[in-house]
Amino acid sequence: MKMFLCKKCKAVVQGTGNPDGKGCPAGGMHDYTYIAETGPKLHLCSRCRILVSTFGEPAAFGCPEGAYHTWNLLGQAGTKAYACKKCSTKVELDSDPDPKNCPAGGVHQWKKG
Ligand SMILES: [Zn+2]
Ligand SMILES: [Zn+2]
Ligand SMILES: [Zn+2]
Repeated sequence: MKMFLCKKCKAVVQGTGNPDGKGCPAGGMHDYTYIAETGPKLHLCSRCRILVSTFGEPAAFGCPEGAYHTWNLLGQAGTKAYACKKCSTKVELDSDPDPKNCPAGGVHQWKKG
């Protein structure tokens, strides 16, 4: 599966081909950019705060909050739930998430549960 992001409304969609561009909530057509193949690695952009689960490093272009995403690898998808007290990002990983580059500034403050 391929993952796409609309940089106008921040919608993330998965599919095998280019998604239907009609009906963007931000007006007109969605402006989708291909991000990556879906996979088990969770990446968070510290600019737009979008969380994606991809096979490899996601594409850098098409960030809604600037020209390029700043992706940070948090870890491998799993069954342990964590939430950051600062940026409110919620993830489920197989180990403690990486603390670097919280979108709210500095390092994440991950809490289990
Ligand atoms: Zn859109
Ligand atoms: Zn971004
Ligand atoms: Zn955080």
